Amino acid sequence: MSIEKIQKTARLYALQNAVQFSGKANPKAVVGKVIAILSKDGISPKDIIPVVETVVQEVNKIPLDKQTSELKKLAPELLVREKKERDYSLPDLPNAVKGKVVTRFPPEPNGFLHIGHAKASIVDYEYAKKYDGKFILRFDDTNPENAELEFYDAQKEDLKWLGIEWDEEYRTSDNLKKHYELAEQLIKQGHAYVCDCSPDFVKECRFDGKECECRHDDVELNLSRWKEMLASSAYGCVLRLKGDMKCPNTAMRDPTLFRIIEKPHPIHGSKYRVWPTYDFAGAVEDSISGVTHPFRTKEYELRDECYFKLLDYLKLRKPNLMEFARLSIEGMPVSKRKIKPLIEKKLVSGFDDIRLPTLRGLKKRGIKPEAIKQFILSQGISKVESTVDFGLLEAENRKLVDPIAKRYFFVPYPVVLYVENAPDVTKEISFHPSNTSFGSRIIKTGNVFYVPKSDMDKLEKGDIFRLKDLYNVKILKKDGKILGEHAGEKLIQDSLKIQWASEDSIEMNVFKPHPLFIDDNYNDKSLEKIRGFAEKSVKDIQTDEIVQFERFGFVRIENKKDEIIGYFSNK
Ligand SMILES: [Zn+2]
Repeated sequence: MSIEKIQKTARLYALQNAVQFSGKANPKAVVGKVIAILSKDGISPKDIIPVVETVVQEVNKIPLDKQTSELKKLAPELLVREKKERDYSLPDLPNAVKGKVVTRFPPEPNGFLHIGHAKASIVDYEYAKKYDGKFILRFDDTNPENAELEFYDAQKEDLKWLGIEWDEEYRTSDNLKKHYELAEQLIKQGHAYVCDCSPDFVKECRFDGKECECRHDDVELNLSRWKEMLASSAYGCVLRLKGDMKCPNTAMRDPTLFRIIEKPHPIHGSKYRVWPTYDFAGAVEDSISGVTHPFRTKEYELRDECYFKLLDYLKLRKPNLMEFARLSIEGMPVSKRKIKPLIEKKLVSGFDDIRLPTLRGLKKRGIKPEAIKQFILSQGISKVESTVDFGLLEAENRKLVDPIAKRYFFVPYPVVLYVENAPDVTKEISFHPSNTSFGSRIIKTGNVFYVPKSDMDKLEKGDIFRLKDLYNVKILKKDGKILGEHAGEKLIQDSLKIQWASEDSIEMNVFKPHPLFIDDNYNDKSLEKIRGFAEKSVKDIQTDEIVQFERFGFVRIENKKDEIIGYFSNK
């Protein structure tokens, strides 16, 4: 066998893997690739593994741009191919011209953003970037009952955390005068009328395809009634589009365009009482703000006809309206209607509870914004409704945190193990298997260990197991106190390897989320509090750092004055 050949192949694939994962190659992935290639030449994995490990360490010390240029020189085809595999690029837009595309994200300021908003905002933002266009953040705040002051800023914070930047920002409610002018235009053209029928009667007429009497009032009367609406002297009336009460698409059966809402607005107070509906405000704003490619979720599809009819009547430019399916995650509700009662009943701790798919919940749990973006883009923008497994988002997160997370010892649900004749061992252990720049720490062991109860349950008196990376222990006694004795250093094939923590470890809790809903019922076991012991160097971890507890999972740490808490991010 030729060491040189292994080195050369290892270097190539270490570079490729590093370029793919933000500059840090994963030795396991590289080993797998190199073995797959060289085993054809009869080179054994035993010879390959140590060489690859050294090469990966070397490559990981090189900055990403140097790694990329070296790979480009050595094997450009590897660079291109791997990039394509991970390139979740969005399909081309219809009628899109570079530099002229304008997209917008139009949240209602009524709550913290969740994964569904992340999809909309990321798609809108990425398209604007793809075409060197403009991205607008527009607060659709024309329903005072669905707008709260705190959420304008809270939603902006959420977007910034996602890495989204907008070129322009405004509130639809600031354009109300313009909306009133356009409403008046519609009335004058005979395309809208004021209706004061009871909501029940309107509903009945829509169902039966019947017109109400107001529909036949003349323009003059409609204009004066519209002015009464605005001037606060009329109650219980709405402005409706003169659509078609027999249209098979019920969304066209004279939809409401404006209604009276007396609740003060968080920005404008009681200045206005007549507010446009989503049908009117959405269409008008998309058009007058210059949006070329607005997206909305598929459940609005039937309302498209109304959108274009309105713009037709108003002689306004028509954007390329696009639709995609709503994003749903198995067992995780996104609607405020479902989340709010959980908070009120204290079944979840708040909008940032780690079981919720709010951006704040995901952040607290240790999901990286870049993972959310990759996850969203990997799902594409199809119109097919589907429920996605959270595991896919976890997998994207793992790709990002694995190269950068320090490794620590943690024993969940521990029991105490006493070892007779235990040597005092002082070990220096690296914080990362491949990246030496993370440094190392010293762990000292005596004759007391914390070990997982679940592992101990598998063993019986007389069995020999291995304390991982340390030595073998033979079980002497298991009733009540667990007693073992030192049983040599030499690795025994197939013996159980057990994660341990030394006596000076720190007790801490890790919170692990499980599905919040199972078959639509609240899961009262959705938050698992895992008590465990972590090696004492966890004290030096900064709040918000994501680390890997070996054989347990990735965990975001909160290092508080009197306690350390972990939140389980992903396996
Ligand atoms: Zn009526």
